[in-house]
Amino acid sequence: MAKPNLDMQARTMLKAAALYCTQGRVAILKVLLKAGRPLSQDQIARRSGPGRFDKVTIYRTLESLLKVGLVHKAFMDKRAWHFELAHNCTESQCHPHFTCTSCGDTHCLTEISLPMAKSPHKGFVIHRQQVRLEGLCPACA
Ligand SMILES: [Zn+2]
Ligand SMILES: [Zn+2]
Ligand SMILES: [Zn+2]
Repeated sequence: MAKPNLDMQARTMLKAAALYCTQGRVAILKVLLKAGRPLSQDQIARRSGPGRFDKVTIYRTLESLLKVGLVHKAFMDKRAWHFELAHNCTESQCHPHFTCTSCGDTHCLTEISLPMAKSPHKGFVIHRQQVRLEGLCPACA
């Protein structure tokens, strides 16, 4: 099977979002497409090529991708937001994320959809649901 052309996929996504295809945007989308799971800003920086983009560039690029909804914040772990492509999620719900307590790897459980929680008390308004599961991944179980 031919390898999916990540470069072209990234450019198509940017075009659909009416964003210019800057080197940084294409590079970050490619990293996220390839990873298939949420990554922190540091992990994105490392995977897009060491020293290729500085912190500010990565931060600004992520901001522009967040703003148009191509990328969203999946969860916070070790005080760092983890970003992922938003195309597997709806506005009100992100798929559950499974983090292995042994190796620390996180997996997207895109095939699971949980019923939306009901607001527990008067005055609380739920906008978005994100669920994180913990346990052992197949490699560690
Ligand atoms: Zn998500
Ligand atoms: Zn594991
Ligand atoms: Zn995910």
